[in-house]
Amino acid sequence: MIPVEEALEIVLREAPALPFEEVALDDALSRVLAEDVASDSDLPPFDRAAMDGYALRAEDVAAAPAALEVIGEVRAGQWPDLTVGSGQAARIMTGAPVPPGATAVQQVEKTQPLDEFRVTILSPVAAGANVAPRGSEVRAGDVVLARGRVIDPAAIAVLASAGKARVRVARRPVVALLVTGDEIVEVSATPALGQIRNSNGPAVAAQARLAGATVRLLGVAPDRQDAIAEALRAGLAADVLVVSGGVSAGDYDLVEPALLELGATFLFTKVAVKPGAPLVFGRRGATLVFGLPGNPVSAQVTFDLFVRPALLKMQGARVVSRPRLTVELLAGVKNRSGRKSHVPARVRFEGGRLVARPVHSMGSGDLAAHARANALVVIEADRPQAAAGETAEAVLLGRFLEDDGAPL
Ligand code: AMP
Ligand code: MG
Repeated sequence: MIPVEEALEIVLREAPALPFEEVALDDALSRVLAEDVASDSDLPPFDRAAMDGYALRAEDVAAAPAALEVIGEVRAGQWPDLTVGSGQAARIMTGAPVPPGATAVQQVEKTQPLDEFRVTILSPVAAGANVAPRGSEVRAGDVVLARGRVIDPAAIAVLASAGKARVRVARRPVVALLVTGDEIVEVSATPALGQIRNSNGPAVAAQARLAGATVRLLGVAPDRQDAIAEALRAGLAADVLVVSGGVSAGDYDLVEPALLELGATFLFTKVAVKPGAPLVFGRRGATLVFGLPGNPVSAQVTFDLFVRPALLKMQGARVVSRPRLTVELLAGVKNRSGRKSHVPARVRFEGGRLVARPVHSMGSGDLAAHARANALVVIEADRPQAAAGETAEAVLLGRFLEDDGAPL
């Protein structure tokens, strides 16, 4: 049994960097950027009006109200062919280039047209007001996005403005996923006596997809070594092979022997983690192999702690683990396992501090409880209990700090 940190270190060390590919900007969401992106121009590319109004010389309206001669109009998309002189103004629209001579824009609400050729500026405006100077946001050549960034909508906007119709990203890791268990039936089936629906398959596939992977489903194998080995064969070309269930010490836990039969070598088979101590990691050729415990919460938590970081590392992501915070416990937690314990909890910002309440859970089979959590409170292996009012670390899950206002 090895500590969580050591297991993660081994996983990350073994995770190979994937090759890059170019994709259309439309397909870049959630991929990992494989290049530093520099802007090809200053942003804004010209002194840009931030308001509809009048471009003018600030000193002309220092003692406003003041009447100015209107010499023309500049619209967004036009290049001004006029120069604003002393005592003059040009009508200007948001996004239009500020014409030479003007030092500020006064917004239209603070003006009053006198006639076709004159306007009264009702209040003074400081030099530079309502003008975004050329290059004030980004200088041409500045790196605006660094490689290793997971591409989110804000990054998409930056890529678009930098003219990146195609983006260099890491290839998606291919995850082959096999579910094992005599008792497991497909989602669409009505379970007979003693059977349960396959929830790990869809859940783990979804986790893998959120981590950027393409998932190849290998189906459900019964608890027979030959059947498991046979099903796994179809996944040996994947970057990562994930198996759910069959890694405990029971008579019908046959994933390890099946993997050995296929030539896998193991780097560890037990981690001091709760939920999920039986956790197999190894390689078979270039393929990383994970055997996750079958208990639904164990499968999801161990995926999150070990497989997700591997997938992100393979894609070159700079950040591979979820954010962690120190939280104050609203209720006590016991940890007699001697393992690092991850307790599903709800974390919220309340009364100026982050508080966590463990969700009521029946244990590592309780997938409904896990779905109510937005975080995992981490209790170290050598901490047999943490009392209410004490602090602990919390790993924030995808829905972190989302707050529906329900009492904790
Ligand atoms: P195992 O790790 O195979 O011993 O399974 C541990 C527990 O998880 C058992 O109660 C299984 O029925 C349950 N389990 C295993 N695989 C799945 C799955 N794909 N979906 C839901 N529950 C599962
Ligand atoms: Mg099983």
